[in-house]
Amino acid sequence: MRPRRIGEEALGRLLSALRAGRDAALGTYIFKGLRIQVSRYGASGTDRTARLYRTRRTRGLCVRCGVRVTRRNPSTGKPYRLCDEHRKSIDKV
Ligand SMILES: [Zn+2]
Repeated sequence: MRPRRIGEEALGRLLSALRAGRDAALGTYIFKGLRIQVSRYGASGTDRTARLYRTRRTRGLCVRCGVRVTRRNPSTGKPYRLCDEHRKSIDKV
């Protein structure tokens, strides 16, 4: 994932998430030209993939590429898990 530029306020939120050991702290950030990387120590590739999937799913992003999904599943009212492009290439059987 690309690093996210953050200011004082977001840094404060990041630190409190860090203190609590919450997954919300995970990510890569740039603060005043310094790079901060927070990752779960000892997590396997599978753990990371599962977490990435969950975060993207709850944020309504394509689980494959992270693009915001605008189209919703008419029967559930929830955004699709894939963007239009990936829905075409993956869900098509
Ligand atoms: Zn996609």
